[in-house]
Amino acid sequence: MIGEEVARAKILEAVRPLPARRLSILQALDCYAAEDYFARLPLPNFDNSAMDGYAVISGDCRSGARLLVVGEQPAGLDRQLRVSPGQAVRIFTGAPMPAGADAVVMQEDVACDGTEIVVNVDVDLGEFVRKRGCDLGTGQKILSTGERVRGATIALLAAQGFGEIAVGGEVRAGIVSTGDELAKPGEKLQPGQIYESNSLLLQSLLQHCGAIGGSTHCGDDSDSLRQTFQDAAKEQILIVSGGVSVGEHDLVQKVLRGLDAKIDIWRVAIKPGKPFLFGWIGNCAVFGLPGNPVSAFVTFLQFVRPAILKMMGASEVDLPKVPAKLITDLTNDSDRVHYIRGKFENGTFAPFGRQESHALFGLSQSNALLRLAVGESHQSGATVNVQLWD
Ligand code: AMP
Ligand code: MG
Repeated sequence: MIGEEVARAKILEAVRPLPARRLSILQALDCYAAEDYFARLPLPNFDNSAMDGYAVISGDCRSGARLLVVGEQPAGLDRQLRVSPGQAVRIFTGAPMPAGADAVVMQEDVACDGTEIVVNVDVDLGEFVRKRGCDLGTGQKILSTGERVRGATIALLAAQGFGEIAVGGEVRAGIVSTGDELAKPGEKLQPGQIYESNSLLLQSLLQHCGAIGGSTHCGDDSDSLRQTFQDAAKEQILIVSGGVSVGEHDLVQKVLRGLDAKIDIWRVAIKPGKPFLFGWIGNCAVFGLPGNPVSAFVTFLQFVRPAILKMMGASEVDLPKVPAKLITDLTNDSDRVHYIRGKFENGTFAPFGRQESHALFGLSQSNALLRLAVGESHQSGATVNVQLWD
């Protein structure tokens, strides 16, 4: 049995980022930038109006001023208008400011009188004008290598005129669920059977990482496991659920060895998840997760997720952590790092449900993990850092 941190470091050292590719900015959602990107244009790119109203000269525009409206500037092509003292230009949100004008008065603050307006407020210099470059200057970094491309990042890239960008490679995973006792959801359960849930859990976790996964089910039978592993090893990673422990029906390790797989890690000091396995079939990274659903979940987040993110070119592979106030005493008396499932809510963390590896309901109600090192102990009210996965 090896330490949890050693196992994680070994896995992260072993996997390599995949070659970068170019994608349209929309397709790049949830991928990781493979280069730094810098602003090509200032934002805004020209002084423009923040309101529908009148472009004016602020010094010329005290309450009661009467101004002649000399033209109209909608958003769109710059009509190259000019405002002189005693004049105003009708203007709309986003329209370029006419030469000479240095403020906009909202249309709600003027009274119209034929071709003239009477201003009902004092107007300050720069009021309702969005100055060129006030949001972003040319050359400013807008996206860093390894940063996740989010919806707002895509909007910014679009606003800068980028049609496509370079991002890290796509991770494709084969999931193999194992176990004679498992029936497909929707099928009729025979006595002694349970519904298979891990492949769905793992597919949703993969999707959440921005990876792609397809799943196959296999009984506890060496021949079918061998054939299935061989097929799945064409992907970049293979995730096996169940069969990695020590019982007579736990055939995964034996079958992997028969395929000349290199097994780097088997059994980690983590609770839940001790029988976790990591190795290689050729260039395919193999993760063997224990069949108990909570063990599969925890070992995915602690070992598989960081590996996938590194392969995708992410600079940050850890789950986000937030401080939380414990609402109960907690001690880890075991000889393994313990990941407690619970609810992070309003700055507090409360363990939820049974802390056993089969207890799926508690997991379904949780949104955070508290890592307790061996011997670590906290009293109610202490501040701890919890990992968020939602
Ligand atoms: P194993 O790791 O194969 O010894 O399985 C440990 C426990 O997890 C057993 O109670 C299995 O029935 C259960 N289990 C294994 N695989 C799955 C799965 N894909 N979905 C739900 N439960 C599973
Ligand atoms: Mg099994």
